[in-house]
Amino acid sequence: MSRSKLESFPKEKLTFGPSPLQRLDRLTEHLGGKVEIWAKREDVNSGLAYGGNKTRKLEYLAADAIAKGCDTLVSIGGVQSNHTRQVAAVAAHLGLKCVLVQEHWVDWDEVNYEKTGNILLSRIMGAEVRLDPAGFDIGFRKSWEEAIADVIARGGKPYAIPAGASDHELGGHGFAGWAFELEDQEEDLGFKFDNFIVCSVTGSSQGGMIAGLAHSNRAQDIIGIDASATVEKTWDQIKRIATRTAKLIELGRELRDDEIVLLDRWHDGIYGVASEHTIAAIKLVGRLEGMITDPVYEGKSMAAMIDLIKEGYFKEGSKVLYVHLGGQPAINGYTTAF
Ligand SMILES: *Cc1c(COP(=O)(O)O)cnc(C)c1O
Repeated sequence: MSRSKLESFPKEKLTFGPSPLQRLDRLTEHLGGKVEIWAKREDVNSGLAYGGNKTRKLEYLAADAIAKGCDTLVSIGGVQSNHTRQVAAVAAHLGLKCVLVQEHWVDWDEVNYEKTGNILLSRIMGAEVRLDPAGFDIGFRKSWEEAIADVIARGGKPYAIPAGASDHELGGHGFAGWAFELEDQEEDLGFKFDNFIVCSVTGSSQGGMIAGLAHSNRAQDIIGIDASATVEKTWDQIKRIATRTAKLIELGRELRDDEIVLLDRWHDGIYGVASEHTIAAIKLVGRLEGMITDPVYEGKSMAAMIDLIKEGYFKEGSKVLYVHLGGQPAINGYTTAF
């Protein structure tokens, strides 16, 4: 069975425990009250530098790094990557070194973009930050391989973590565990959610959720919202990660293509830049709920959920769970958008 198999993998505790569930009453009411909106808050899942979805994934990768005797975490992302900031926090917490390749994923012309927000936090936590001019890509990179080689040349033992902690054997485990954690919370609440809204870019949040929820035949209820604007690549990566994770946790069957749902209407045509429509969604939820979403990821999945509710996508009486994956520190690089 999937759940006990997952529990057999070593895990380093980096989160507070189950992330909280919260009913968004005022947003529910604002959108007509026919669909009940809840959020599961990965944005407050940890005390390590604001936490987020990558912290949950890193619980498995960190345990592996320690078991292998590695002394340096090496990873990659954009300049305002939430992922690399979470890797820096995990390294600090575990007494490891950290090297981060920060690529030019986003053309955002704001004076402090390369100084504030996530990258500032990574510097505070002592990571070696390397700025690199390469553009957006969720795949493997030369700069990253060079960073790994440099650690070895200095006599260190690197642990390589790909973009978003996704395309890694253990990348999907954290969110497979999210699915089982949610099912425990549903049991306490006495109901099950009908649909899930989750933002996807490097794919292992949704991929892990699919592997975890497929055992109770609910994977197709997860509505992925692409924020990469390279939708086919992201879909393929979600499928690959979900399949690999399902195999490792012994789901016992193949996944079907219709269990991987990724909608492409809300990426605003480009990774890392938000349309007026996305900014409006961020402000709406900020003003109704005091809940903060960001222009790169969660604002886009929030805009999607709001539009889908307005369009009648969910049947009356549905309970929809917005999976909040974190990402607020990036907002400091986007002041002019507001
Ligand atoms: C990384 C990230 C995502 C995308 O998750 P993936 O697992 O990479 O698909 C969404 N939201 C936030 C805040 C993130 O940091």
